[in-house]
Amino acid sequence: MSPIQPFHPAWIEIDAFQLESNIQEIRKKVEGRKICLPVKANAYGHGIQQVAKIAEEIGVDYLAVFCLQEALEIRQAKISLPILIFGSIHEQEVDLLLESNFEFTISSQYKANLIAKRYNPSFPKCKVHLEVDMSMRRTGVRPENLKDLVDHIEKLGCFEIVGIYSHLASADEPNHLETLEQIASFQKWVAPYRNNGWMIHLANSSALLHYPSSWNDMVRPGLLSYGYFPAFMQEKNKDEKILPCLSLKAQISYFKVVEPGFGVSYGHCYRPRDRTRVVTIPVGYADGYRRALWDKAFVLIRGKKYPIAGVICMDQMMVDIGQQEAFVGEEVTLIGQEGDQKIFCDELAFYLGSTVYELLSGLGKRIPRIVKKQLIS
Ligand SMILES: *Cc1c(COP(=O)(O)O)cnc(C)c1O
Repeated sequence: MSPIQPFHPAWIEIDAFQLESNIQEIRKKVEGRKICLPVKANAYGHGIQQVAKIAEEIGVDYLAVFCLQEALEIRQAKISLPILIFGSIHEQEVDLLLESNFEFTISSQYKANLIAKRYNPSFPKCKVHLEVDMSMRRTGVRPENLKDLVDHIEKLGCFEIVGIYSHLASADEPNHLETLEQIASFQKWVAPYRNNGWMIHLANSSALLHYPSSWNDMVRPGLLSYGYFPAFMQEKNKDEKILPCLSLKAQISYFKVVEPGFGVSYGHCYRPRDRTRVVTIPVGYADGYRRALWDKAFVLIRGKKYPIAGVICMDQMMVDIGQQEAFVGEEVTLIGQEGDQKIFCDELAFYLGSTVYELLSGLGKRIPRIVKKQLIS
């Protein structure tokens, strides 16, 4: 039994139908390839347990997380999809890793030895994916050392290799010469292992969109599954079927009239020239609605856009509704759609000189995630 959730006046709605339809579009595109849904960073802010549950229901093949803690959160929700941990393993977590049946990443002989030292034959073999570094210089063995790593791991006897993968640094640029070379080189280095039944995977969202040669046995689209396009895709189709599935909403918590010339919020940076109506919304920068948005962004009330009034506080913000009416308890949309008006994260990211990735993953844990709508299947 889950504990009773106390009411919170702001919430994130996940449109399960839209998430499913995004993943179905992706599935159609990469026909036959397995789909691994990255749910790291609280499923890009969408709620890791909620999204993992939807993923299982709609037949996603794999989930991927960054760390052990995230993998455990998924298992707590009784989801049995295979889970791949992308991040490097650390010595202090080896025992827990050995007890769990997560698939994890090995990217050096040193890390393999950490596991082997603590392994005992009563454990099942550790399912691992070997990471090759084609361009990130983040983690992963150099491709020319892959063979040595494979040989070493097979000698240790406690591993079952199930995959080999890499991650590209510049796949968001279409027709990027170095990226094309990196993909070709990856294919060449992994070719000897294709017949072992090991899964070869390389493509994130951008690679999936721009580089079909990177698709291999499984694709790992994160951002695209959540309905956003990586950089360089601003000029996307008008009738695009892949759309955001997250909305951030709140109830108006307070209403007041502000007299001309009186300031609103810290530092009184906002001073209406005319008598106006101001409502307070219980969302602030601690929730991931970034402070720097205050003089740029709008929110939606009754299908119309209104500007933020004054700097955003830690937990609250004010909105100038002019001469319009709005009552305490009414719904406000900070991210999402009301009628034909839309505010999505790409717009907010643009104002901030940031990315959708940073905005979504920064959405605070204290906001409950609520799954809306039925699935297609
Ligand atoms: C986060 C991540 C992905 C997904 O990236 P998107 O750009 O969101 O599609 C894929 N692979 C690895 C290794 C990652 O860390």
